[in-house]
Amino acid sequence: MTQDQAEILVDRLKNACVFHRFDEPGVYLEYARIIAQYDYDRMKAAIDEIIEEDSRNVPAISLLIKKYKGTSNAPKGQVEVKSDEYCAVCDDKGFVLMKEKQSDTGLTYEFVLYCPFCPVGRSWAYDGRNISDKKHRSPYYVPPVTEYFGDEGIQALREANMKKRRENIDVKRPVEKAVQSIGKEIPDGWQYDTIGDLPF
Ligand SMILES: [Zn+2]
Repeated sequence: MTQDQAEILVDRLKNACVFHRFDEPGVYLEYARIIAQYDYDRMKAAIDEIIEEDSRNVPAISLLIKKYKGTSNAPKGQVEVKSDEYCAVCDDKGFVLMKEKQSDTGLTYEFVLYCPFCPVGRSWAYDGRNISDKKHRSPYYVPPVTEYFGDEGIQALREANMKKRRENIDVKRPVEKAVQSIGKEIPDGWQYDTIGDLPF
């Protein structure tokens, strides 16, 4: 769709939802930029559906894309062609959940890293420390996977996902709790354990 069409859709979200962050710098443009990569009619249908379900909060970009993918204009029985590329770094999840054991206390804690290699991942980027409105500032911060892994680590994530994809192994674990603190919802989360699971 065109940039103008994308802005029409973002305006629709802004007007329809009670709570939105479109007045914060960059949020409006980021939504428009990502929405512009998709088909107008299908994205409009996805937004209509989301607003019908919940018009209080603006959906995360990841949810928009998920809904979009579930909304097809193709005639029934026809296989839908996926227009965007598979992201092997995060397995199209947009994030990687890490578990780390602190050596001094022995406690295990979980944290989320967003994937900077795909649009879904970029919608997970969050830095509560730099929010312009001081009232909404918080210490919560989601770093990119690149802050935690070097090139080799990223490549290992890619290869592990490609391998899993080939073997068609579906690893799913409930991880909602770990990200509730930043007000996000994980549709189908899965995670790496630094203790056991890591492929390198
Ligand atoms: Zn990704």
